[in-house]
Amino acid sequence: MITTADIDYGPQPELKDQYDVIVMGAGPGGSVAASIIAEAGYSVLLLDRSEFPRFHVGESLIPETYWTLKRIGLLDELKKSNFPRKHSVQFVSEGHKESAPFYFEDYNPHECSVTWQVERGTFDKMLTDQAVKKGTVFRSDASVTEVLFDGDQATGVKAKLATESDVPHREISSRVVVDSTGQSAFLVNRLGLKDTDPCLKKGSIWTYYKGALRDSGRDAGATIILQTEGKKSWFWYIPLSDDVVSIGCTGDMQYLFDKSRGTTEEVFAQEVERCPALKRRIMNAEQCEKFFVTKDYSYKATCPAGPGWVLVGDAGGFIDPCYSTGVFLALKSGEFAADAIVGGFRNDDLSAEQLGGWRETYNRGVENFRRLVYAFYTPGFSFGEFLKKYPQYKSNMVDILIGDVFKDGVDEIFKEMEPMMRERSEAHQMAKKSTSSM
Ligand SMILES: Cc1cc2nc3c(=O)[nH]c(=O)nc-3n(C[C@H](O)[C@H](O)[C@H](O)COP(=O)(O)OP(=O)(O)OC[C@H]3O[C@@H](n4cnc5c(N)ncnc54)[C@H](O)[C@@H]3O)c2cc1C
Repeated sequence: MITTADIDYGPQPELKDQYDVIVMGAGPGGSVAASIIAEAGYSVLLLDRSEFPRFHVGESLIPETYWTLKRIGLLDELKKSNFPRKHSVQFVSEGHKESAPFYFEDYNPHECSVTWQVERGTFDKMLTDQAVKKGTVFRSDASVTEVLFDGDQATGVKAKLATESDVPHREISSRVVVDSTGQSAFLVNRLGLKDTDPCLKKGSIWTYYKGALRDSGRDAGATIILQTEGKKSWFWYIPLSDDVVSIGCTGDMQYLFDKSRGTTEEVFAQEVERCPALKRRIMNAEQCEKFFVTKDYSYKATCPAGPGWVLVGDAGGFIDPCYSTGVFLALKSGEFAADAIVGGFRNDDLSAEQLGGWRETYNRGVENFRRLVYAFYTPGFSFGEFLKKYPQYKSNMVDILIGDVFKDGVDEIFKEMEPMMRERSEAHQMAKKSTSSM
């Protein structure tokens, strides 16, 4: 597993002074956008500040990633990879009540229903290689320090090149700048466009184990989402290749990073104690990496595009890790943005409306994920109880879990779910009040 890059940038391609498009950030969002634009015949410069492969969190894909991966021609390579196949997701409530897995292929018997658990270092490198094959110029030694504007029109970037320490900064111009800098959210921070989600002030602590328990057959690669007793936090359990499992704990920042609880290691161990179903799975396993921590990652951009610039992936917003939607949304927004840019070149229109016109459709899909995330965190609410009462909505729920969120009618589930969430939340608050006054 790659966590710390041994920085050897290797040979880097020649840089020109001008490109049609500069893509800043070579995660899944940036690489897909670069691939599609380069394939359409335009010159693309993809810049990243880390030598690839580089470590990144976010290993579990959801089935609907298939279509973008197919479009850029990566399916054959993925099929040949040793990434574990993910057929399902399974939920464990209150630390030990295990649901039956949701098998995606039961709802859609197409090969897209089996997806992958990926080491992001390897996966993201596959994506950048694909972008290069399509004609993208990729520099992995370039830290973007400024986006250049003429008025409100983006005109290029300034970058510091690690392999050219004698050159202070390079100015490179372009007709369009794509910001796909992930959680660094370069333009969102520079232009003051950040709208954080007050309901999702969460953080995560994660690490990797070798030799943890795996189910057999098609369950071997399942993602397991395990809530702890009292529902104050939850764990992801993502089986990777080489017998490694990614295990992370997510909870309210105040709760997870309360200093009086001790060190990161101690807090993680306390949460494992509250989750017998996880404890059982890692009993004979060995931790094989350090602990990683991240927090306050849920936000959206108040404006997704401007003249000559557009935001893609996490750079334009992130919801929450609970349904593993991040890579899917990065790929999808990369695809939407690329199509808008190519359309803009053809019609000589690089306005905000042209470059960000896809956002309305996209945001409708994102909101479906967000509403299901709110349900997940609503105290007293249970998906099991909801589906028992409203079995007709099981397919809507699976649609959202697989990422089929842009389809009409998928949000009908919330007509019944949200009143039930409010009811359960109020009952939970009342019960809490009466216990504390006793
Ligand atoms: C705790 C946690 C768990 C998660 N688990 C999952 C999961 O299981 N499945 C899932 O699908 N998603 C998951 N995600 C989300 C996922 O990691 C992201 O949504 C996804 O990586 C976004 O892709 P991206 O292309 O937008 O950005 P990134 O993948 O973050 O790539 C951004 C790139 O930009 C580069 N960059 C940044 N600033 C600059 C700069 N100034 N100059 C040059 N380069 C720059 C960085 O080096 C990086 O390579 C998780 C997120 C968190 C926080």
